[in-house]
Amino acid sequence: MKYLILKKDRFNHFIGLIAKRHTIMAPVSKGYNSYVFQQVTSGDEIALKYIPTIIPPKKYFMPQFETFLEYDKTWGENMNAIVDYEGMVLFGVHTCDIEGIQAINIVFSDRPKDFNYLARKSKIIIMGLECNEYCDEFASCSMMHNCLPDGGYDLFFTDLGDYFYIHVNTQLGDEVVESLPVFEDATGKNYIELGNLRSRKREVFKNEVGIEYQNIPELLRKTKDSPVWEEVGRKCLSCGNCTNVCPTCFCFNILDDVNLDLKTGRRIRMWDSCQNEAFAMVAGGENFRKERSARQKHRFFKKFKYTVDRYARYFCTGCGRCSRTCMAQIYLKDTLKKLKEEITR
Ligand code: SF4
Ligand code: SF4
Repeated sequence: MKYLILKKDRFNHFIGLIAKRHTIMAPVSKGYNSYVFQQVTSGDEIALKYIPTIIPPKKYFMPQFETFLEYDKTWGENMNAIVDYEGMVLFGVHTCDIEGIQAINIVFSDRPKDFNYLARKSKIIIMGLECNEYCDEFASCSMMHNCLPDGGYDLFFTDLGDYFYIHVNTQLGDEVVESLPVFEDATGKNYIELGNLRSRKREVFKNEVGIEYQNIPELLRKTKDSPVWEEVGRKCLSCGNCTNVCPTCFCFNILDDVNLDLKTGRRIRMWDSCQNEAFAMVAGGENFRKERSARQKHRFFKKFKYTVDRYARYFCTGCGRCSRTCMAQIYLKDTLKKLKEEITR
């Protein structure tokens, strides 16, 4: 572990050097305060200040569509497992999205391990970027304790004016910085400037909901029959946008795409959503979560209760994407506040 600095006037050179060896994905502005992770070749293309991208960088670890089997039954049972991945540098990942990647790492490393996911993950170098400012009213990274870096990256960049302070966190990160002649050792003055930024952030990044982190599972347990769920269910359109944009939602469906010869085809994995009506339907037509209210309640329990019980970890990073994207204006922080009001009334 070590600390370096990169002067801002060398940033373009740094990205250019990396781009000669790796595909680089980074946040890019699409106008109207919206951003996406996409391939870049120069530092000028990168948005160093951005609110969470429309889709999180989860898309590089768990693509929306993925072929993992091709088959041909013309002569017997011929099947080829497909592990399709591309090495890349993921630059500019905020702390909330690093937490999201950590969460899905746990799920896909659980037994049975998901080798496609793990192969892809092993080829991605993560370079984080600190948020110096608070994103917007939808974020709850402070409540979720995700506004400061807490591992899960190879390198982590903090913008301190005319230079970046860099935490080298892994062997892989060290190999990258050792191979590029653009860094300088950090000094005590740099360390103090980093401390000043973090102190200022502690003042600005306040718990936005007023519910203590450790009390959220208990809040849900006490409000599982609350009328708030009916209210949310009446508004919800079941579009699934909230889960599609979530950095920790990992549910998928598996489909066989059979060719017209009925002998060849491929097996595909694609994102699914617990907000779809058919998601919890089983043989015989039973549906465990037919009502939208039940599906919304499930989403919240999956973020703040079930995953804490199973993995000792919240599966909400506080990125705010679900609220930012919801056409029905169902806001995660408002829902939690209403639930809290119920038990304090
Ligand atoms: S984005 Fe909003 S309307 Fe769509 S499923 Fe989610 S909560 Fe319901
Ligand atoms: S539930 Fe909403 S705020 Fe939490 S991680 Fe998912 S998209 Fe972000």
